[in-house]
Parts: sequence; structure tokens; C-alpha cells
Amino acid sequence: MTECTAEACNQSTEQYLCNQCVQDLQAWIDKIPLMLSELPGVIYRTAQTKPIGAQGSSGGAADLSPINLDALQLKTNLETVNPDAHTYAGDEHAAGIAWLIVDWVQKADQLISGPEPEWVDHQQIRERIEGQAPPMPTRKLVPWLRQNAKISLNGKDIRNWAARGKLHPVTRTPQPTYWPHEVLAVHRETKGD
Ligand SMILES: [Zn+2]
Repeated sequence: MTECTAEACNQSTEQYLCNQCVQDLQAWIDKIPLMLSELPGVIYRTAQTKPIGAQGSSGGAADLSPINLDALQLKTNLETVNPDAHTYAGDEHAAGIAWLIVDWVQKADQLISGPEPEWVDHQQIRERIEGQAPPMPTRKLVPWLRQNAKISLNGKDIRNWAARGKLHPVTRTPQPTYWPHEVLAVHRETKGD
């Protein structure tokens, strides 16, 4: 009998990981098949990896967007994990391996379901510009938002939101104008953040 090598675990065990730690690791490992099925969507999520301000070539999915290398690396790592946690218990490096596996699964989970890091900035930007930017017609608003809030919209998006009552024009003549911060708020909401 000896002690489990996992950090902060003193359970006695015959191997390098105690039963509880093996079970915990198994729970993490069991999430991997789902991660592996979802990660390709992150790796090749071209629409979101398109550089801000890139020329709209209307090339759609054929644009030469970079793939998400972090996601690709995680997928490669996760594919090396044995589906049975018990196989690691006899390895003298089991504690370190278990730590790594958990780290990979957590990172993959963040990439798949977590908020995109950009959203934090959007919130800040939205608060900063609120009240500072005047109402603008879509023709001005679209480039303004791209430059100042780093989001790409087109006039049609804005007109659709207005048509659905999500957005209210500030003035209607000679053309409708909208508050940039309101457009940002609707954009945020629509993206389901
Ligand atoms: Zn343990």
C-alpha cells in the first residue's frame, strides 16, 4: 500500500492513482468522444476566424480563413487518450497525465461552448461608445461599427432588425438613423451571447 500520487489526494492505493482518482479521470475521459465530434466545427469555423476588416470578397466559405490551430492541437491530443482510465493507474506519471487530460478536456470545452473571447471586448466597447456616438444611417453605421466595434454587419441585418421591431430608428427622414449602441445590443442578443 502506498499513497495516491494525484495532487492533494492522500488515499491509499496499490497503484499510482487511487480508485477515486481513476473514477474522476474516467468521468473526464468519457467527455472526449463528444469533444472529438464537436472540435472539427471549431477548427474550421471559418466565418469567425475571418480577420476583422478583411475585404468582403463574397467568397463565402471558400475564403482563405485560417483554421483554429489550438483546436486542432487539442483534437490531436485528445485522440491519444485511452478510453479506459484504469490503464493509466499503473503508470508512474499517472498524476501528471491525468492533469493533462483534464486540462485538454476543459480547454476543448471552452473552445466548443464557451463565449468567444471577443465578446468581453464587445461589452466594454458597447459601454464606452454608449452615448458618445450619434445616431447614424446604415450607410455610415456599417463601416463605423466595423471600425469601432470590430463587428461586421450589413445594412440588411439592421433593416431586418428594424422590421422585426428589435431596433427603433431615431429619425426616419430623410433616411432612418439608429443608435450605434442599440445596434450593438441587438447584435449581441442575436448572437446568443
Ligand atoms: Zn487519489
